[in-house]
Formats: sequence, C-alpha cells, structure tokens
Amino acid sequence: MIELPIDSDLSYASVMQIGSRHLRESGVLESRLESRILLCHSAGLSAERILSLSNKRVSTEVLVPFLDALRRRMSGEPIAYIMGVKEFWSLKFYVDNSTLIPRPDSETLVSAVINHLKKTDSSKTKILDLGTGSGCLLLSILHSYPGIMGFGVDINESACRVAARNAKHHGLNSRASFFNGDWAKAIGDRFDIVISNPPYIAAEEISSVSREVLEYEPQGALFAGVDGLDSYRLIAKDISRIIVSGGSVFIELAKDNSGNVKQVFEEEGFICANIWRDLANIERCAEFIRQK
Ligand code: GLN
Repeated sequence: MIELPIDSDLSYASVMQIGSRHLRESGVLESRLESRILLCHSAGLSAERILSLSNKRVSTEVLVPFLDALRRRMSGEPIAYIMGVKEFWSLKFYVDNSTLIPRPDSETLVSAVINHLKKTDSSKTKILDLGTGSGCLLLSILHSYPGIMGFGVDINESACRVAARNAKHHGLNSRASFFNGDWAKAIGDRFDIVISNPPYIAAEEISSVSREVLEYEPQGALFAGVDGLDSYRLIAKDISRIIVSGGSVFIELAKDNSGNVKQVFEEEGFICANIWRDLANIERCAEFIRQK
C-alpha cells in the first residue's frame, strides 16, 4: 500500500526513491530505472530534466498520476501498457491491452524482410500483415522502404485503431491501411509478401508463461491450441489464394517448433527457403515460398 499525502513537500529525488522502494518490494527487478521512467512519464519530462529538478518539490499534478502508475506497476501491469508505448526497431509504437507488446525477438522478421526487399525490385511490392496488432512489423518495414504498400489485418477492431494511429504517427498512413478481419478470409487481393507473428503458444506451455503476460496481454494473440499450431494451419491453408506465385511468407516461429511449422506449410505446397535465429540463438523466423 502506498501512503503518501498528495499535498506533501516531497522532492523529485525523494519521490523517485519512494517509488523505487515500493517497486522493489513488489518484486520489480529494475526498480530504480522503472521508478524514474514512471516519474518522467507522469511529469512529461526527460530524465535529464528530472535530474536537474532533483531537489524541487513535485506538484500534485505530477504526484497523482505517478502514484497511479506506481500502483499499476506494483500490481504487475507491464510498463509498456502503463506508458502506452513501446520501442521496437528503434521506433516508438503506441500499444494498449488489445495489442501484444512488441518483442525484440520479432525484429528478426523485420530484418529478414528488409534483406529480402534489398535483393528484389521492391518498388511495387505489396505486403500483407496477418494479425498485425500494433502494426509494429509492417510499419517498421514500410519505414525502411519508401514506396512499398502495406495492409494489416487483425481480428480485434481496437488493435486496428492502434495500428492506424501508429501509421499516422510515423507518417505512413498513405502507404499503410488496416482492416478488421479473420486472418485472410475477407481478402480478395494478391500480395507479393505476407508476414505474420501469429499466436503460437501451445496450451500445455501455459505454465511457462509469465504472470504479467498471462494477466495483461491479449490471450487471443498468444495461444493457438493444444500444439500451438492452430494459427499456422489456418494461415497456410488460406494463403495460396492471396499470394502471388513465387511470393514469400515470412512468419515468426515458436521456440523449438520450426520442424512442425515447416511441415504445416509444406503440406500446403510451400517450400522453406530460409530460417533466421534471434539474438538468443532461437530459430525465430521462417520464409516459405509459394511454388509456381
Ligand atoms: N513471443 C511471445 C511470447 O513468448 C508470443 C508471441 C506469439 O504467440 N506470437 O510471449
């Protein structure tokens, strides 16, 4: 329980210390860093500015939102949802609880697609992102490649709004559109590249998922049936219809499941062209090519 009189005379330094102690006692590892981040966020100031204000009194207008943020963090809510933003591919993305929080692991897919585009005539490329969430994958790629067009689909309407907001924030709204839909079901167009970070955690893996993820992130973006392959199956089945002949699918892989994902796509007439590992040396992204 945080007991602070909100009309107290506390300085920025003391508030930060109190915040850090409460976070530490609630089991937050980087308690000092997170207390500072939350104070900067509540004050709308940079870390540098907060440092220069160290001995100055924190106003009630800053203290009230800080205490609210602190309470949320102490209950285990991820800091990205409290701040409403997360950095990915060195870009800022808005997030809320309708979208997964972008993971650094997923930058493996962005890097793979960008390298692929470098090798092709990318000027007219059209990319479809299935289960776009915050739009971080698609928008990071479009940000690196002027000219190409992107379309994102998500079953959650609220996620589509977050993705559209991110497109606008990065000046990409003329090249990125987002639609509410169930995978590729409502899509009639054809695409050169399809990307996806689908839900892929197997039901039996639930015990290995952290409480923060389980309680706060959208379950529909995480779990995919008994073996974690349900979404891969749905995507692989429908995708031939909407991908050009010779087109590529870049898809994020679940840890230790690349062999099974490969089999799912091969059964639908795709060949596995490449697999990339993430920084933890885990097979994280596969490219499947639709045979002519
Ligand atoms: N990589 C995420 C996690 O382990 C899962 C994302 C997903 O299912 N697509 O929390």
